[in-house]
Amino acid sequence: MPALQTVTTPAELRSALAEARRQGQSVGLVPTMGFLHEGHATLIRRSAAENALTVVSVFVNPTQFAPTEDLAAYPRDLARDQTVAQEAGAALLFHPQPQDMYPPGHATSVSVAGLSTRVEGASRPGHFDGVATVVLKLLNLVQPTRAYFGEKDWQQLAVVRRMAADLFLNTEVVGVPTVRAQSGLALSSRNSYLSAERQAQAAVVSRALRAVQAAYAGGEQDAQALLAAGHAVLAQEPVDLDYLHLLDAELQPLQGQLTPQQAAQARLVFAGRLHAVRLIDNMPLVPGEQVQQGPTPGAPL
Ligand code: AMP
Repeated sequence: MPALQTVTTPAELRSALAEARRQGQSVGLVPTMGFLHEGHATLIRRSAAENALTVVSVFVNPTQFAPTEDLAAYPRDLARDQTVAQEAGAALLFHPQPQDMYPPGHATSVSVAGLSTRVEGASRPGHFDGVATVVLKLLNLVQPTRAYFGEKDWQQLAVVRRMAADLFLNTEVVGVPTVRAQSGLALSSRNSYLSAERQAQAAVVSRALRAVQAAYAGGEQDAQALLAAGHAVLAQEPVDLDYLHLLDAELQPLQGQLTPQQAAQARLVFAGRLHAVRLIDNMPLVPGEQVQQGPTPGAPL
């Protein structure tokens, strides 16, 4: 396996990619905030399988954190990230500093209207503007053939797809299913804030989502009754719920009796805190049926 090259400035990144570009090689990009785990490694392996060269970015993007959030505390371990990225098949790791991505005088940001202010965006105002801005910067620097995003961040995937379609970006946005621990807990860098015992408690989230799936499979079709099955499971642990919704493809909450078509498209999304650690997760209402990974380019929103 060739050694991983780590670059820290946009200029270094561009020159490291120049040869691959001259040769017309396909390039995959996996944007991350680091502290890489098996979920990230899955995205990197997928990219390495589908592209000649894979770039992993490791950047804790300050513009997507509110002042009250965990920017300073966010876990960081570059040496371990380099090992994980290399073993998963990445050729380049881009690790810029905030001033590299936001030089003095920077004044431009990107906002995906509508999608960015719903659901998670309502709980975290400005978050998706920060995400869209940094992702567009990374896409412009790398100009990848494909860019890989986890379904774990369902709304982020939708925002990025919408931006890529609206701005005619020459990159295919690929969504990758969520990687979970055996307990069902979705892997996340923020899980490191929780002890092993509390991570076991956090598995209640995926159990709750599965309970909603089971209620639908059992014949329940009313959105509120379906969500009630999830709430009942969440009540087993000290979860401070932010939201539990069934969303349509445009990320609008579904209500009342679901048609089979609505159910096939519906996504169950959760956010809440356990011992002050914010967790998010999501699943399709009907396992295996949902082929659409967030709104498709061109879909009305
Ligand atoms: P993050 O470092 O948390 O910003 O995540 C970087 C990318 O990895 C995003 O596209 C995430 O959706 C994705 N990701 C994070 N956790 C998982 C997971 N458990 N399974 C699949 N993808 C994930």
